[in-house]
Amino acid sequence: MVLGATARFKSIDVDLKKEIDRLSGQKVDMCYLCGKCTAGCPVAPYQDIPPHIVLRLAQWGSSKVLESKMIWNCVACATCYTRCPNDVDVAKVCEAITQIAKREGIVADPVASALREKFVESVKNNGRVHELPLAMAMKVATKDYLGDLDVGIPMFFQGKFPLFGHQIKDLNNFQKLFNSKKAKKEGDK
Ligand code: SF4
Ligand code: SF4
Repeated sequence: MVLGATARFKSIDVDLKKEIDRLSGQKVDMCYLCGKCTAGCPVAPYQDIPPHIVLRLAQWGSSKVLESKMIWNCVACATCYTRCPNDVDVAKVCEAITQIAKREGIVADPVASALREKFVESVKNNGRVHELPLAMAMKVATKDYLGDLDVGIPMFFQGKFPLFGHQIKDLNNFQKLFNSKKAKKEGDK
């Protein structure tokens, strides 16, 4: 589904650019498309559109940005942020757009979305990631049950995929912090 720049949104009562600015805490108009973010981005070569085009579509308020896989595959490495001459945090922009896209029922990369949810759930429950459920979630999401077994099985026997997750020491305080941040984020939506 390709929506036009003037499409109506189910969940947004202001225009798309303003909503991206609000949720990300960034001003997408600050971007002057120098492309330095894209030049350093480790995942850009494998995406449908590169980060600076995400910014351009966001500036236009084009709903095509909601259909991008790039927004789901940003790994928040901050390379773009450190390179950007205008201090635009592209990862925050991508994250904001995924929130809007989900609300609109548009998930361009269901595998990345499923992995992200499993990752957050794992961190919430343990204070750190538990690798085995994450790997299993990836298998289910991709339906590729036999791929990478030549690597995965030796890793399992070397203890890299423990059956039970390790929890951090101060899990209670961490979870309080996690839930307060989550509540704030929900309030911002
Ligand atoms: S580095 Fe900054 S100004 Fe340049 S294209 Fe990327 S976001 Fe825009
Ligand atoms: S934070 Fe995201 S967009 Fe920026 S360089 Fe890293 S992967 Fe690319």
